[in-house]
Amino acid sequence: MTPPRSSNRKRVLVVHTGGTLGMAQPSRTRLDLAPGEHLDRMLTHVPELKEIAEIELVLPWNLDSSDIGPSHWQSLARIIANRAGLGQPRGQEGCFDGVVLIHGTDTMAYTASALAFMLRGLDRPVVLTGSQRPLEAWRSDARANLTAAVECATMDIPEVLIVFGDSVLRGCRSTKADSNDYQAFEMPSDAPLGRIGVDVEVDWPRVRVPTEGFSLQVDLDPSVVALTIFPGLDPESMARVLGPDVHERMRALVVRGFGVGNVPMQGRMNLLPLLHSLTSAGVQVIVSSQCHRGRTDLGLYPAGRALLEAGAVEAHDMTLEATVTKAMWALARRERTLGEWFAVDVAGEVSLGTGDRRASASD
Ligand code: ASP
Repeated sequence: MTPPRSSNRKRVLVVHTGGTLGMAQPSRTRLDLAPGEHLDRMLTHVPELKEIAEIELVLPWNLDSSDIGPSHWQSLARIIANRAGLGQPRGQEGCFDGVVLIHGTDTMAYTASALAFMLRGLDRPVVLTGSQRPLEAWRSDARANLTAAVECATMDIPEVLIVFGDSVLRGCRSTKADSNDYQAFEMPSDAPLGRIGVDVEVDWPRVRVPTEGFSLQVDLDPSVVALTIFPGLDPESMARVLGPDVHERMRALVVRGFGVGNVPMQGRMNLLPLLHSLTSAGVQVIVSSQCHRGRTDLGLYPAGRALLEAGAVEAHDMTLEATVTKAMWALARRERTLGEWFAVDVAGEVSLGTGDRRASASD
């Protein structure tokens, strides 16, 4: 048996993946530093991190987040689970109390959502953060974001979080809402989980409690495509773009419909025949709303009802980031159909309608 830790100090594993936070000023070029040098640099600029916790840094790669995708999410989930000792008692020698992931802001919400699905039964915080200005730039937001993220990683919040600006957000509900503002992330369909002011104030009753033991579920099927419809979209051109053997390359299509999930159903713009042909070829159609604070309700209008009849499933109030990553994760998990996975809440990503609100992934 591994012995308990000798010191009571909290331990936080920092995983640096890239993004603006670690870039050189003023050119925003990548700094290829070894993990030790990078940690020294971080602690020189943010010395208070040492007061909050004992820090260890790993640097699997240093990328702009536009270049981070499903294979990186899988590696990150493995690194976090193995290095932090997820599923093992936190006070055990070598284990960490929480994890901070430094990540570019552009695709941070996708990585956070993917990790929330892959780290099932998560038992400690995994906190993503980054910044709009590099750490060394004057008036940078990096120092405050990093400090708040490490502090949150020492708390008892067993969720994948995004900590940025003054917000503590559920990762799989978040989206990058501003490309310049220091309050860059939002949870469009729910209130933040916490606020950072003089104190970190957490809405504790809403923090998720694991209902199952930890398991690493990294399988993903990335054959998912998202389509934002617009007035004038020609279904025939769309069909030509997709090609005749589309079902061999695409297993799920996320259609970002209007309002509660409507699509055109009259004249040349009628999208229903195309969607019908896709579902009959075995492509799962998922309908989401392109409204910033959208929630689908396909039963409300004839177009939505036709989509339901064609076998489409609803994204409810999920963000695009959660919808796409949940589809990739669900397609790889054969114990339920994709439609069944979309009717349950796996990681706090969705509020279901009154009829199915109580459904959860462990039912
Ligand atoms: N392009 C950067 C990235 O996402 C932007 C940032 O970090 O804010 O990696």
